Amino acid sequence: MPIYEYQCAECGIVHEVLVQSASVRSPDCPGCGSKNTRKLFSTFSPQVKESAPPPQSGCMSCPNNNCPHAGGA
Ligand SMILES: [Zn+2]
Repeated sequence: MPIYEYQCAECGIVHEVLVQSASVRSPDCPGCGSKNTRKLFSTFSPQVKESAPPPQSGCMSCPNNNCPHAGGA
């Protein structure tokens, strides 16, 4: 479930809200109770960093240093 951050326009505090529904109104400020809150950009941003596999030398079935198929021999 995404977590949204809301900032109160009155007192300026930021609070996180766990959004369970797609359509949800801006929650009231937990500090001053104002309804004048606005949604900030979510910090929920999964960054998938996949390291590239090492360059394959030789063929897939032989150990790299002992591949008779490598080198075009
Ligand atoms: Zn407030």
